[in-house]
Amino acid sequence: MNKAENIKREIALVQGKLTRLENALAEIQASCFHQYTDYQYYKRCAHCGKVEVLYY
Ligand SMILES: [Zn+2]
Repeated sequence: MNKAENIKREIALVQGKLTRLENALAEIQASCFHQYTDYQYYKRCAHCGKVEVLYY
């Protein structure tokens, strides 16, 4: 296997892992009783890290 194929294979593996991690995080955030701290342009949950942008 050449170097480019090795890199592509590794990218696919990392993308698969990233998808699993994003799903796991989404699950945690979906069941969290959010406790937001307000910042200037967004608020962030202290428990799960979920960020919501504030619009004015
Ligand atoms: Zn939360």
